[in-house]
Amino acid sequence: MRLILLGPPGAGKGTQAARLEKHFGIKQLSTGDMLRAAVASGSEIGQQAKAVMERGELVSDEIVVGIISDVVDQDEVANGYILDGFPRTVAQAEALDAMLREKSSKLDCVVEMKVDDSVLVARITGRYTCAKCGAGYHKEFQKPQTEGVCDNCGGTEFKTRADDNEETVKSRLVAYHAQTAPLIDYYGKKGLLRSVDGMADIDEVTKEIVSVLEKVKAA
Ligand code: AMP
Repeated sequence: MRLILLGPPGAGKGTQAARLEKHFGIKQLSTGDMLRAAVASGSEIGQQAKAVMERGELVSDEIVVGIISDVVDQDEVANGYILDGFPRTVAQAEALDAMLREKSSKLDCVVEMKVDDSVLVARITGRYTCAKCGAGYHKEFQKPQTEGVCDNCGGTEFKTRADDNEETVKSRLVAYHAQTAPLIDYYGKKGLLRSVDGMADIDEVTKEIVSVLEKVKAA
C-alpha cells in the first residue's frame, strides 16, 4: 500500500505514520526527518536546507524530490510506504506522479487529516521527542507514563525541534495554506482523497485511518 498523509504542521502526521508503519508493515517516509538528518550531518543538502527550515519556509522542490526519488527505489519500501510531509506543493505532487508512472506504480490513497488552525500552535510548541528512539510526546496531551522516561525505550534524554517555536509555526502554517492545501483539491479530483477528523483523540484518529485504509485495500 502506498499512501500520503496530508495535513497542516501539528496535525499528527508523524504520530499516525509511526502507528500505521507498525499496523500495515509499510515504511514511513518523512521528508522532514530526512532533512533534519541532513542538517545534523552537515551535508550539502543540509547546509542548503537549514536556514529555510528555521524560517518555517519550504525547501526547494528540487531538493525534496531528489531525496524522495532516491528512497522510493529502495527494497525496504517494496511493500509500500507512508509519505509524511511530502508532497507539499503541486509541483512535488506532479513529480511524484511522474516517478510512479515510470515505475508502473500508483498511489492507493491520500488521507487528509483535518485540524483547525486554532489548536495547531499549542500542539506544536508543546511537543518533544526521545533523543534515543525518536518517540514523540507532548507536554500536555501525550506525556510519558513515568515523567522523564521514554515509554518506548527507557531513554531519559529528550529534544525539541528548532522550528517548533511560535514564530516559526506561524510561518509554517502560512506555507501550508498557500502551497500545500491546494493538494486537497489536486487529489480530490483524482478520486484518491479521504478525510479524517484529526481533532479527535490520537487512538480514535488511528482507528479512523485504519478503517479508511482497510476499505481502500478491500475495494
Ligand atoms: P516537517 O517535519 O514535515 O514538519 O518538516 C519540517 C520542515 O522541513 C518544513 O517546515 C520544511 O522547511 C521542510 N520540509 C519537509 N518536507 C518538505 C517538503 N516536502 N517540501 C519542502 N520542504 C519540506
